[in-house]
Amino acid sequence: MTTNRETHEYLTFAPAGQMCAGCGKRIGALEPVRRGMLAPETGTPVVVYRHVTCRRMAASASPS
Ligand SMILES: [Zn+2]
Repeated sequence: MTTNRETHEYLTFAPAGQMCAGCGKRIGALEPVRRGMLAPETGTPVVVYRHVTCRRMAASASPS
């Protein structure tokens, strides 16, 4: 498989200034988010945050 893999880990709060990977909006300090790990084919996995209210969607829409 060559697609990026993302796993949602747990519900948490994002550090200040984080952007939602789902809608691209800034995440508020007291907004609960899902913390996820985006693992590219190559390179370092990056942590992403997403509003719990945002539907699960990839940043680059690629339905599988
Ligand atoms: Zn969002």
